[in-house]
Amino acid sequence: MDLNYFQNCPACGAPVELAEADRLVSCSYCDGLNYLVNSGPLRFVLPHEAPAKLGEENLIYLPYLRFKGHIYSCSGKDLNHDIVDTTQLGYNDAKLPASLGLRPQAMKVRLYGPEHRGKFIKLTEKVVDVFAKAAQLTDSVNSKKSQLYHRSFIGETISFIYLPTYLKSTTLVDGVLNRPICRRMSRDLLDHTTVATQKWLPRFLPAICPHCGAALQAEKDSLVLSCSNCHTLWQEKKGEFVKIEFAVIDGGRTKTYLPFWCLTSANEGIPLDSFGDLIKLTNQPVTSRQEDSEKQLSFWIPAFKVRPKHFLRLAKNLTLSQHKLVAEERHVHKKMFPVTLPVQEAGQALKAALSAMVLNTKHFMPQLPHLKMTPERYQLVYLPFHSLGQDLVQDQTSVAISRKILYFGRTM
Ligand SMILES: [Zn+2]
Ligand SMILES: [Zn+2]
Repeated sequence: MDLNYFQNCPACGAPVELAEADRLVSCSYCDGLNYLVNSGPLRFVLPHEAPAKLGEENLIYLPYLRFKGHIYSCSGKDLNHDIVDTTQLGYNDAKLPASLGLRPQAMKVRLYGPEHRGKFIKLTEKVVDVFAKAAQLTDSVNSKKSQLYHRSFIGETISFIYLPTYLKSTTLVDGVLNRPICRRMSRDLLDHTTVATQKWLPRFLPAICPHCGAALQAEKDSLVLSCSNCHTLWQEKKGEFVKIEFAVIDGGRTKTYLPFWCLTSANEGIPLDSFGDLIKLTNQPVTSRQEDSEKQLSFWIPAFKVRPKHFLRLAKNLTLSQHKLVAEERHVHKKMFPVTLPVQEAGQALKAALSAMVLNTKHFMPQLPHLKMTPERYQLVYLPFHSLGQDLVQDQTSVAISRKILYFGRTM
């Protein structure tokens, strides 16, 4: 479920409503477009209804970690996947509520700002442990006591959500509902505060092409911005826009261009260098041709979020049809679908994508722990899709995806 919040336009201050995964603040008052720099998890604060006489500085903010993403795991002979959306307490105290449930989605949260003058409780749980908890939630459904060979988290969003509370004598009171949370709260809690820093504040970059100075274009959830003046694409890295290598495959009847990360990786542990190796390893029912063993293997991973089942299907079918895909040009087109999955995440999906292609998983899965796949090079490639009823169909390979699935992917 999506979490929505208001952010003031960095140029004119007008409020703009955003979803958690949005990167662009598009202002309808001043027409400004600003990119939200990725400098760690966003920090949200639930709005409090504490008595006014209490004073903002006496609020105590409890830290919750929100994890939203996909988990892929290979255990026994199965490749499992799940969508996880959970909010867990990041402070170790069994007397406090372990989760915020649906509250963050039910109310408008705010990004942390200097007006939040209370005391922020430090995380005592490591972010990786919260990940592990999220994974356990899915393992209980999937494991069936079979051995786990591989697990990866893909496309995750991690944020902090602070719950405002206050002390009334020794009772800790929920500042949103004004209800007691814990009757005998130890004051030790207050020994675990941290100081909010400048780093907690969101930073923005004006969406201007660093090459030609024209206005960049992007949909609000896109990680890649385009300049149709000088035909360049840009992504933010360490607070500045960096040019990104891209290619487009020609499409005559094209309605939409969908982005894929075309990745090559150094693979150790299993012979897997050429396209021919992939055909052999995954037992595809085709005879490997001489040219396949000379063709360097690349993985075609969707550069957009979509439900795990479809994510794997697209990665599998396009990777196995890569001999039909030849990138030709480098023009920015109007109908380019937004990139919502960073290349690092695509790199983490390689083992799951490979497992999805294997026909004899019983023998393959136990080899996974010995396989090391290190992404080496990548290019963003836009593939042409034409409309066929409710579906989009890829011109060269006939791989299809429904518009509905694409739409839902953007709300995940
Ligand atoms: Zn504005
Ligand atoms: Zn430009």
